[in-house]
Amino acid sequence: MKKPRLLLVNIAVFLITGFISLLVVPYVALTQGFDSLEIVACIVLIYFSGMSITAGYHRLWSHKTYDANPVVKVILAIGGAMALQNSILHWSSDHRIHHKHVDDNESDPYSANKGFWYSHIGWMLREYQVHRYSDYSNCRDLQKDKVVMWQHRHYLSIMLSANFGVPVLLGWLNDDIWGMLLLAGVFRLFVVHHVTFFINSLAHIWGRQPYTDKNSARDNDILAFFTFGEGYHNFHHIFEYDYRNGIRWWQFDPTKWLISGLSYIGLTKNLRRCPEERIEKARVVMQLQRSKTRIASLAHGEEVMQKLQTEYEVLVQKMTEYYAAKKRIMEIKKRDLQRSYDKLELLHRYKELKVNLALQKEKWLKLNQLVYLPSLIEEN
Ligand SMILES: [Zn+2]
Ligand SMILES: [Zn+2]
Repeated sequence: MKKPRLLLVNIAVFLITGFISLLVVPYVALTQGFDSLEIVACIVLIYFSGMSITAGYHRLWSHKTYDANPVVKVILAIGGAMALQNSILHWSSDHRIHHKHVDDNESDPYSANKGFWYSHIGWMLREYQVHRYSDYSNCRDLQKDKVVMWQHRHYLSIMLSANFGVPVLLGWLNDDIWGMLLLAGVFRLFVVHHVTFFINSLAHIWGRQPYTDKNSARDNDILAFFTFGEGYHNFHHIFEYDYRNGIRWWQFDPTKWLISGLSYIGLTKNLRRCPEERIEKARVVMQLQRSKTRIASLAHGEEVMQKLQTEYEVLVQKMTEYYAAKKRIMEIKKRDLQRSYDKLELLHRYKELKVNLALQKEKWLKLNQLVYLPSLIEEN
């Protein structure tokens, strides 16, 4: 079969920015050096344009995980254009298809099933999606967003001003236009390109799958560090409407921190979170599935299999009770029924359920670990 035509502009952009970043920038760094202002500008713009993609293109527009003030939207639209990844409308359309048809080599625009190279950059080097290039029917909501349409119509001028205008202006203020253009312009663009491309490639190849194995997406702490928090991609693919990707407080997700930080000053609102109960249950289902597969390969696994199933059911039951009580407390708190007998009784019950659940979880995890130690299973 004939391959689709090459996209020469894209190829030229990736080659030129790659050549300058990997050869020219190191050469200049060694011979002339860059001053601290150039280095700071580069880092700040990496975060600005990178997080305009993650907080803006991805979590705000593609998935609608929160609402943002128009000023925030304009800033994210400019930062996103600076990252040179096409308009919000185009990017979101591709991305929604990626989620809907993940790993499907025909439909997923950057299917990880086609390997690292294709999902990282190869999909942008040829006209693979010509039949639906300007089909934005899956983004009708975004077509009503004034900021999205303004950016889409003036994409070229916004992109050029952000990529050249900003570094040139900073360089002029710093008395060295070329130095700033090289580091905060080209090198910055190269870095942001590849770290965001890793979300389509590495985040579908390297890491663990705690929530689902129905698609190739992975959770990876190292990757999260380099991708502004988007390395928790296994969680993201199953709970895509959650504004967080790293759900634990310690998981490195600066995009989540930015979105929630802005909510304290009223610039973002209606931050969506998936109910904790659903997240916990997804994890336990995966643990059960893994342990069952493991037991199936053991000689006398029937008894353990039975025990595992029973404990799983008890755990799910305890979880349901606990989260129902938690929900009830939230409702009562909202209605502010202070000092009511019901509330005291419920609080007591809630604490009891919490302890029960914790004990059952501990038991469950131990049992799942046992499954991997065949000798221990025999002794039990
Ligand atoms: Zn997504
Ligand atoms: Zn993905």
